[in-house]
Amino acid sequence: MAEKRDYYEVLGVQKGCSEDELKKAYRQMAKKYHPDLNPGDKQAEEKFKEVNEAYEVLSDPQKRSRYDQFGHAGVDPSYGGGADPYGGGFGGFDMGDIGDIFEGFFGGGFGGSRRSNPNAPRRGTDIRVQVTISFFEACMGVKKRISIAKTEACPDCRGTGAENGTAMRTCPDCGGTGQIRVQQRTPFGMMSSQRPCDKCGGRGRVIEKACPKCGGRGYNSATKTVEVQIPAGIDDGQTLSLGGQGNAGVNGGPAGDLLVLVSVRPDTLFSRKDYDIYCEIPVSFYQAVTGDELTVPTIDGNVKYNLPEGTQPGTVFRLRGKGVQRLNGRGRGDQYVTVTVEVPKNLTRQQIEKLKEFDDAITDKQTAKKKKFSDKIKEMFEEK
Ligand SMILES: [Zn+2]
Ligand SMILES: [Zn+2]
Repeated sequence: MAEKRDYYEVLGVQKGCSEDELKKAYRQMAKKYHPDLNPGDKQAEEKFKEVNEAYEVLSDPQKRSRYDQFGHAGVDPSYGGGADPYGGGFGGFDMGDIGDIFEGFFGGGFGGSRRSNPNAPRRGTDIRVQVTISFFEACMGVKKRISIAKTEACPDCRGTGAENGTAMRTCPDCGGTGQIRVQQRTPFGMMSSQRPCDKCGGRGRVIEKACPKCGGRGYNSATKTVEVQIPAGIDDGQTLSLGGQGNAGVNGGPAGDLLVLVSVRPDTLFSRKDYDIYCEIPVSFYQAVTGDELTVPTIDGNVKYNLPEGTQPGTVFRLRGKGVQRLNGRGRGDQYVTVTVEVPKNLTRQQIEKLKEFDDAITDKQTAKKKKFSDKIKEMFEEK
C-alpha cells in the first residue's frame, strides 16, 4: 500500500485547527478538485477522494482524536494491512478495540467484557457534500448531479469479503471472539486483558479465499454520480439527507447517509427571508408624483403594478403569493416591493430653472408634511 499523506497536510491546515477552519479548508479543496470542474482529470479525482477521506475523519471528533493519537492506523482498519487484510496486526482491526483495551488497563475494567462483537454489523459512515445553486433554483427546485467518493458493498462477494462459493469459518485461534486473553504482571498484581486476535485481525472469522475484486475487504471505493432532487423552497445552509447513499456498512450493516449541504448564491435583484421575497424598484420623481404602470420582476416573470399617484419614497407594496414555495407545505410566501425615488443628478441650468419655477408654485397643501414640520419648529422657538 502506498504511503498515505497526513490528513492535515491534505487539507492544508494545522493539527490543532478549529472545526470552522477545517470546514473552510475542506470546502476550498473539494471545490478545487471536484470532478465536475476537472472532467477526465484522474489526478484531480484522486485528490478529491483524498480530500473527502481526510475530511470524513477529521470532521468526526472521535475519529479525529483517534487519528491524532494513532495516525492512519487509528481510523482505517485496512491501513497497514497490506495485501492480506486479515494478518494486518496493528492495522488489521478497528481501532475502537484499542480504546477498549486501554480501558481494560487504565479504567479498572478486567478482561474488557464491554468490548463489542467484531462481527456485529456496523452502519457505514455518512458522506457530506456541498452543492451551490442559484437563487432561482432554490425557489423552483432543481435536479443536480453530484460526484462523490464513497465505498460500496462489493457486488462480487455481496460484502462478505469471501470469494464466491467459499465460506467464512470461525477463527481457530480465538474461537470466534476476535480477542486473545492475556495475563500480565503489573505493580497492582496480575491483570487480565485482551488484545485483538492476530490471525483474524479481531474479526473472529477467517476467509478461506479472499474475494479478488475487493481483496477481502467486502467493499470497494468508487466515484459515483448521484442525482439529487433539490426541492423548491430550500434555503441557504439547509441540509438534505439521502438515506442509505453514504458509505457501505461493515459486516452487513446498513450504509450511511449522504448529507447534501445546500448553498444558495445571492441574487442581484431579489433577497429572501423565510418564504418571502424582497426587492426594490426605483422610480423617477415624476412617476412617484403622477403614478404609473410599473413592470415589477417576480420569480415567475414580470408583472404589472399600478403605482398610485403621490407614492412616497420607501412605500412597500405586497404581491401576494409571489414569494417562495413553502417546503413540505402548501402555498407560497409573498413578495414585498420597496419603492425608491431616484433624485436626478447633474441637471442642466435650464432644468434647474424649470424645477425652481415648479417648486415655487407648490403650495403648502401639496406638501402638507413639510408644512407641518416647519410649523412645529417655529412653535418650538416661539415657546422659548
Ligand atoms: Zn468482494
Ligand atoms: Zn481470531
